[in-house]
Parts: sequence; structure tokens; C-alpha cells
Amino acid sequence: MSKSFDVIIVGAGMVGASLALLLRQYMSQGLSVALIDEHAITATQGQQPSFDDRTTALSLGTQRIFEKLSLWGALTQAGCAIEHIQVSQQGQFGRVRLHAQDEKVESLGSVIPNRAIGQVLSQGLLSCEALTTFAPAKVVRYEMTSQGACLQVSFEGEAVELRAGLLVLADGVSSVGCDQLGIAQRRHDYNQTALICNVSFDRPHDHWAFERFTLGGPLALLPMQGNRFALVWCMANDQAKAYLALDETEFNQRLQQAVGFDKGRITKSGERGGYPLVLSQAQEQVRSHLVVLGNAAHGLHPVAGQGFNLALRDAKALAENIGQTWLCHGSDQLGHITHLLSYQTAQEQDQALTIGLSHQLPTQFAQPGVTWSLLRSLGLTVMDTLPVAKTLFARQAMGLVGAPAQWQP
Ligand SMILES: Cc1cc2nc3c(=O)[nH]c(=O)nc-3n(C[C@H](O)[C@H](O)[C@H](O)COP(=O)(O)OP(=O)(O)OC[C@H]3O[C@@H](n4cnc5c(N)ncnc54)[C@H](O)[C@@H]3O)c2cc1C
Repeated sequence: MSKSFDVIIVGAGMVGASLALLLRQYMSQGLSVALIDEHAITATQGQQPSFDDRTTALSLGTQRIFEKLSLWGALTQAGCAIEHIQVSQQGQFGRVRLHAQDEKVESLGSVIPNRAIGQVLSQGLLSCEALTTFAPAKVVRYEMTSQGACLQVSFEGEAVELRAGLLVLADGVSSVGCDQLGIAQRRHDYNQTALICNVSFDRPHDHWAFERFTLGGPLALLPMQGNRFALVWCMANDQAKAYLALDETEFNQRLQQAVGFDKGRITKSGERGGYPLVLSQAQEQVRSHLVVLGNAAHGLHPVAGQGFNLALRDAKALAENIGQTWLCHGSDQLGHITHLLSYQTAQEQDQALTIGLSHQLPTQFAQPGVTWSLLRSLGLTVMDTLPVAKTLFARQAMGLVGAPAQWQP
């Protein structure tokens, strides 16, 4: 069997699924799109590892994009608004406090369980009749020709040949597509693991999120429904291995030491999981008839909670680029390198700033020594007293830097 589409997206994780939904408006006008994933797309997304026990902090910019897709209402049912953020370093003076009210926004972001994000996105995909899905399916071979992409896919026990004018690789951090097409990935291993779990304290969180830098690595507590926090604690691989094996009482004691007592006493912590931390960057994001997106294009340190937020901004820009090219020039021009380069150029600054911030924060805050520590404390204190600096920092965190005027507070 052989089939042709205007666009093929490989990967129905958070980013590939979002791109498919962002293209829905053009599909209703005739753009043909196929979405391939190695896992089945179901209403619960129970088998899909991208939609596991983690939580994701979605920025206000991301909220605006999902509002346009009419998905925000469903997402917030499981979400919790962040109204205040405190950034501090363990055992040192100086801190920055951001408040939604000061920034004249309803919230600084929202924390949503990945499972809920998976369910909302998959239900959107399942209700999109114009979208063709191949899932579970395996791409056996990728080939790029002067006309576009040609994929050999194994689907429902059959060999299927799929062709498209534009191929989008959104197949995650270990992208097989990039590998097969010879797109190199630059990797920086932080030699750290992000340990995640849910934590309850004996005091209400009052919608505060805490980012605390320790010399061992940064630690974030994000408010969730049910007066719980989602913990993301980055630490050396060996330490994480040991902490993953601790019993709950011992683990809670170590965590309490790291976070201090100003949030109250820890009463409970849930099942723990670990994620190795690597900064990965594809050395090419566009080629003729090809775009690399999401974690396949850039996988970030989770310290600032920016990986998905950045990828969604890319996906939105790409969807607009595809839609406009298709409407103005037709299917033949879809994968033309000129159009794809204009997408890449438009996203370059946002990517450089967000990736730089996500890399520099954990690196600079891990520098040992009294001088570094003093400089960081002074930096936090100065930022806290300068409203302009605070607002710039808040806008970056909210994903509003470079956003359209109507999104700005
Ligand atoms: C601990 C942690 C906390 C995080 N917190 C935040 C946060 O608070 N805010 C934020 O913005 N970001 C956060 N992130 C980052 C965010 O999780 C990622 O940016 C996002 O999940 C990337 O999604 P993706 O769709 O690109 O990749 P993935 O989720 O990996 O999806 C890839 C998809 O491709 C499919 N696939 C792979 N290979 C094939 C193949 N050969 N054939 C077919 N399909 C294939 C997979 O099945 C999967 O569905 C966090 C990350 C971590 C590790």
C-alpha cells in the first residue's frame, strides 16, 4: 500500500500531537496530514511514556496557544495556577519573589499532570476526522528525495509506503529519524538525574512555586491540586540512585533539610521516578522537505520548566508557516527550503535565549566558593528590588518574550 500526504508528523508526544492540532484549521480546508507513533493513540494514553507521572509547568504563552485551540478549559480541570514564584539558594541570603498580581496577569503559569495533558491532546486527535493516524506503527526506513519524504512503515502487520512534501520529526530526544537521516545531535551530559515525586506539607501551598538552588543541583516545588507539590529535584546520578532507594521517612527528612521549614513540615511523599539530564541540540533543524521539532530538535535541562513551552512556540510558528505556504503557494511549495528557513530564522532568538537560560541557571548556581555565592545572593537581591528586571524575568518565565501584543499584560 502507498499513500501520499502534504505533511507527515512522526511522533505523537506532547509536541507532535500539538502540531497536528495546530494544523487542524488548515486540514478543514484540505491540507492532508498523517501522524505516526509507535504507541497506540487512545482516549486515556495509558501506555504512552511521554504522558507518565510527571507534571509540566505550562507558561502563560502556552495557555494562550491552547486557549486558541479550545483545549485550555479541559486542561485546567486537572491543573493548578501558579500565582507566586520564589527563587532562592540554600543557606544564603537573597531571593526573588514574583507575583501574578504585580505582573497584571491572572497567573504566572499552571501546573498540569502529564497524564491529563496526554488525555486532552489524544481526545483532540481522535476527534479530528481529517487527520490520518498510523499508531501503533514503526517507521522502518526514512528516505529523502527531491520531491519530499518517503517512509517505509510497518502498520497493522503490513508494509506501508508513506510519502509527503514535508516530514516533521517530533520523535523525541533519541530521535531515530535524525539518526537515520544523518542529523547529528550535540549533547552535554549534566551527569545529573531529575528525581520527581509528589509531596504534601502540613500547610496550604497558596499557589506558590519554589525554585531553590543548592550546590548539589536545583530543586523545584510546583503547586498541584489537592494541596500537593510536584517535586523536581536535580542531583548527581549516584546521589539520585541512593535517594530513589530510600524509604519514605528517610527521603522526607533529606528533602526537608534541602527545602527548609518555611513551607511547613512534609507529611507525605509519593512514588519517585528518575530522569537523566542531558542538553541535546540537533545540528540541523531544517532541510529541504524536513523539519526537526520538540525534544528531537532541543532537549533542555528542566530547571526553568521551558522544554515543552519552547517547543510549543516552535510548533505554533511552524503550523502558521505551513498553513500560509500551502494557502499561498499550494502543496508543491510546502517543503521548499526558503519557507522552512524563514521558520527557523523566526525561532532562532527565542530558542537561543531559552536554551541559554535553561543551561546557565543550573551551571552558574552550581559554582562552588564564597565569591560566587555572594555574587548570586547579590544578584537575587538586586533583581528583587528592581521592578523592571523582575518583569523581564517574569515575562521570560511566562513565555511572553516576543509574544503578540494582545498576549502582553
Ligand atoms: C523531569 C522533567 C520535567 C519537565 N518539566 C517541564 C516543565 O515543567 N515545563 C516544560 O515546558 N517542559 C518540561 N519538561 C520537558 C518536556 O517534558 C519535553 O519538552 C516534552 O515532553 C517533549 O515532548 P516531545 O513530544 O518532543 O517528545 P516525547 O515526549 O519524547 O515524544 C516523542 C514521541 O515520538 C514517538 N516516537 C519515538 N520514536 C518513534 C518512532 N521510531 N516511530 C514512531 N514514533 C516514535 C514516541 O512514542 C513519543 O510519542 C520536563 C522534562 C523532564 C524530563
